[in-house]
Amino acid sequence: MRNIQSFAADYSEARDKFLAAARLADARTFRYDNPSKGPGGEALSTDVAVVGPEDASKVVVAISSTHGVEGYCGSGFQVDWLATVGASGLPPDTAAVFVHAINPYGFAWTRRVTEEGNDLNRNYIDHTKPYPVNEGYLEIADFLVPADLGEAGTKAADAKLAAYRKKVGDIAFFRAVSGGQYSHPDGMFYGGGGPSWSNRTLHAIADKHLKGRGDVAVIDFHTGLGPYGYGEPITHYDIDTPASRRVRAFWGESVTESKRGQTASQARDGLGHYGLNRILLEPETRLTMCTLEYGTFDRESGQRAFRADHWLHKYGDPLGKEAGPIRAALRRQFYPDTDDWKEAVLFRGHQVTRQAIAGMQRKANWGDWGQSR
Ligand SMILES: [Zn+2]
Repeated sequence: MRNIQSFAADYSEARDKFLAAARLADARTFRYDNPSKGPGGEALSTDVAVVGPEDASKVVVAISSTHGVEGYCGSGFQVDWLATVGASGLPPDTAAVFVHAINPYGFAWTRRVTEEGNDLNRNYIDHTKPYPVNEGYLEIADFLVPADLGEAGTKAADAKLAAYRKKVGDIAFFRAVSGGQYSHPDGMFYGGGGPSWSNRTLHAIADKHLKGRGDVAVIDFHTGLGPYGYGEPITHYDIDTPASRRVRAFWGESVTESKRGQTASQARDGLGHYGLNRILLEPETRLTMCTLEYGTFDRESGQRAFRADHWLHKYGDPLGKEAGPIRAALRRQFYPDTDDWKEAVLFRGHQVTRQAIAGMQRKANWGDWGQSR
């Protein structure tokens, strides 16, 4: 059995465990200080641990906490890998770059968004161009985050949402809710009005540790969608491109491709995947990336938890007494604090990481993977 002690109870403990495991693994570490503070006034940072040769042509990357509170999951895996696998799991000419808490504010504050209120996985967009318009979100914004979160207000807002869902159907409804929007800064799934600190930090990390490498395989750890404890590798490549074939060769039949409509994820614009695509350019670098999405609880309880979180930060007091239960519900939704869930996370995390490392070795031999994404 894997060591579920690798998981932490809060951001600061997660960071301590990560740095301790990095020391055990003889990793080189790098710190990126976030300008904000945690709810207890604690310092926040993104930390990077690098294992393996400085100039390796193949690099496996694991990212935790793109969605803040979801960081418990990825952090637990990163700690476990560094403590139990480390350099012993890396073939020659292969390195591991582990990015811990890319959104440390969200992790520490038990939120999905960054300190700018951004959904980081909608923020990697070209901010010099006009933003996409999410017409559906415009229609339901006030019902998603109603000013009155009491019984009557909730009931009224839910009736409006149910009517809208009935009108447009399930897929259009979830796309409106979670596809991303650039019009309501304190609303859900807001992609931002510029590159967030976490976005800029990931760019800096990629520039320093990934640029110019031949093959980069990225696993971005998420939670909240799918069956309890199961990790689904979701990819966003165009159908029938070399990259789309690569993800299948790496991760087998369990890969889902959003462009084939195989996943429940409705994310469309501003994904981390697209951000890294713009930094790591072919033919110099071949990027093979998946979002490893672990299931927790059902989507409806997720929506309720999001609603309360956004209500708290828009209409309530994030340090007041109503904050406690709201934060607890959100934490539970994205980090089921049970042994079986953690064991499943570790099993699948190690499997998917091992497959990524093995995939890069095979590719070097095959040499016929083409260049375009
Ligand atoms: Zn996520």
